[in-house]
Amino acid sequence: MSKIFNFCAGPAMLPSAVMEQAQKEFCNWQGLGVSVMEVSHRSPEYIKMAATAEQDLRDLMEIPDNYKVLFCHGGGRGQFAAVPLNLLGDKLEADYLLTGQWSKLAVVEAKKHARISETDIMTKTDSGKLTVKPCSEWPINAGAAYLHYCPNETIEGIEIFDIPETGVVPLVADMSSMILSRPIDVSKFGIIYAGAQKNIGPSGLAIVIVRDDLIGYARKAIPSIFDYEVQAKTNSLYNTPATYTWYLAGLVFKWLKEQGGLVEVEKKNIAKAELLYNFIDDSDFYTNNVDKSVRSRMNIPFTLVDDSLNEAFLAQAKDAGLLTLKGHKLVGGMRASIYNAMPIEGVQALVDFMKAFEEQQ
Ligand SMILES: *Cc1c(COP(=O)(O)O)cnc(C)c1O
Repeated sequence: MSKIFNFCAGPAMLPSAVMEQAQKEFCNWQGLGVSVMEVSHRSPEYIKMAATAEQDLRDLMEIPDNYKVLFCHGGGRGQFAAVPLNLLGDKLEADYLLTGQWSKLAVVEAKKHARISETDIMTKTDSGKLTVKPCSEWPINAGAAYLHYCPNETIEGIEIFDIPETGVVPLVADMSSMILSRPIDVSKFGIIYAGAQKNIGPSGLAIVIVRDDLIGYARKAIPSIFDYEVQAKTNSLYNTPATYTWYLAGLVFKWLKEQGGLVEVEKKNIAKAELLYNFIDDSDFYTNNVDKSVRSRMNIPFTLVDDSLNEAFLAQAKDAGLLTLKGHKLVGGMRASIYNAMPIEGVQALVDFMKAFEEQQ
């Protein structure tokens, strides 16, 4: 069988080296004669693995010592609720920037718990491309409990490289679809969270990176598994965590270190994204609707010149070993998600296919 490349937005492909290692030790982990998913999360072997995974993540992201790293249940959407429940304290209001579908969904959940003030910071360029208003126009409300935004909108393919300056107001970021794709300055954030299944590992886990001084203000009625204080005190072993996902995330962190860390990973991600965007921009057949300054390096939506060709495009792409390119229903067209695990060979194979498909019309 020729090589398969999976462009799914999430759960997304994992590095093949990681999958092979997991397969090798699937039934016999660390010589114990059992799988890692069959051992107690209280066993010394598991606790050591879990702590190593955390340390590797800290090294990769250069997470300062005054931040806790939590391995939580409930994915990205679990944190849509956990953030207001932990952070509101005695404040009544939180601010949300809107840049696309995921930031809007975060608001829907947060509204159950707080008064939310939302600001749409999207606009269009003169040529009609989607873009984000400049940082200087983002409102900062000093009375808000926190400001939430989504630096990479997975569905629309919009990535925000500027970091809002919020002063004393804690900045909260949903990094589900761009975490670990490039270095970021963690010290600018109060909370960073991410569902695992895009750039970390399989689904079933959310990573939360939270500054110490924000812990301890949770609402009394918060479910304990969402309480950052409870999770911090128990090293995220309050109840049984997603043990296998945590283990696989640990393998991914080691793999990222072997790639040379996030500086090197970012270079590869830039090269991959440029390869595809340059091809699309040079073509009259394919279009991407996002302004260059805010184009996502992880999720690249594009349309064909004629929507009636979509079915044929998808069927032939699948035959060529290029999977899950159908765009999100809200945007239409196609979407190629090219997270860390996607090698440049996969993007090249996609570009070659797109070229051939166009020529055939
Ligand atoms: C996928 C995604 C989520 C949802 O994650 P779940 O783990 O399915 O809850 C949230 N935010 C962003 C930006 C995403 O890409």
